[in-house]
Parts: sequence; structure tokens; C-alpha cells
Amino acid sequence: MDLYSGIINQLIEEFAALPGIGQKSAQRLAFHIVNMPREQVERFASVMCEARSKVCYCKECQTLTDRDICPICANTRRDHGVIMVVETTRDQAAYEKTGKYEGVYHVLHGAISPMLGIGPNDIRLKELIQRLEGDVKEVIIATNSTLEGETTAMYISKLVKPTGIKCTRIASGVPVGGDLEYIDEVTLLRALDGRTQL
Ligand code: ZN
Repeated sequence: MDLYSGIINQLIEEFAALPGIGQKSAQRLAFHIVNMPREQVERFASVMCEARSKVCYCKECQTLTDRDICPICANTRRDHGVIMVVETTRDQAAYEKTGKYEGVYHVLHGAISPMLGIGPNDIRLKELIQRLEGDVKEVIIATNSTLEGETTAMYISKLVKPTGIKCTRIASGVPVGGDLEYIDEVTLLRALDGRTQL
């Protein structure tokens, strides 16, 4: 049963299709939008469109950015010989927020999951392997401690081993099944400091 007129229903449906938004929140957001000043809604819509069209993958680390090379990779003060491998741009942001990590990143955009049919070729592993041909001292694997994250970590460590590059895994200060982006900075730093060689 449609409770509201067509376009409002449509707006609610669009919101409800977003991750983490249930029907109630979708309704709340939709009504908020229709009550917002028109210019603000237009600005919001155009920023969304612009973000969608401009955002691309950094040529080096594969994170989402609006430049060819993201600001982290472009920063010459960072240690480009240390690469921290994370699953998502949000995980990268979580480590960035600590302000203590001075290396660079590699963003996989997912993790290997045989159950979901996600294989090594479905995430940005090829690009990581290419980077290993450069001047790399250490690969820090900071995938989540979920089954998928651990599977991915194992897979990467096997790829890195033959290159002779030091390969480490962040410590298990990160709770099992935990998503990196929800973990506090102290725990993240402890996990990084306590990383072990694979
Ligand atoms: Zn980058």
C-alpha cells in the first residue's frame, strides 16, 4: 500500500535502497529533503552527481580520489617503501585518522570470499603485485579479522614471500570479526605496533 504520493514514495525507496537505511529512516530523510530549502537540495544533488562522476581510483594505491594520484601517494614526506594493505577506503581513513602511520596504502576494495564467489581477480591484487616490483621494504596486511580478511591475508602473504619483501600482519588487538573502520584509534595503533612477521 502506498502511503504517500508517487514522488515521495519514490524518494523513500531511493533512500531505503542505501546501505544501513531502513524504511523508517528512509521516510525521515525523504520528508527532511522535501522540507529543505530548494537551493540546499540542489547543491546536495549536484555534489552527489559530481562526486559520482569525478571520483576514480588512485593510479598508485587504488583508493577513491578525485585526482590521478591521491594526496597520500603524492606526499613525498611519506614512506613509499611501506605499503599497508586494507580492504576499503574507509579502513584506510581509520588508520589515517590516527595520524601516526607514515607509510602509504593499498586499497583492495573487498576481500577474497569463496562463499560469495569473490576471487583474487575480483579485488585489486594485481595492482598490488605490480607495486611490489618497485622499491618496497614492507607490506603490512591490515585486512579485517573476518574469515574473508584472514583468507585474503594468507593469499597476499603467499604472493609477497617469493619477492623477499618483509610481510607483516597487524596484531589481533583488532577483535575477531571486527571491521577496521569501527575500531578506536588506540586499538588500531596497538595492532599496528604489534604486527607480526608472516
Ligand atoms: Zn593513492
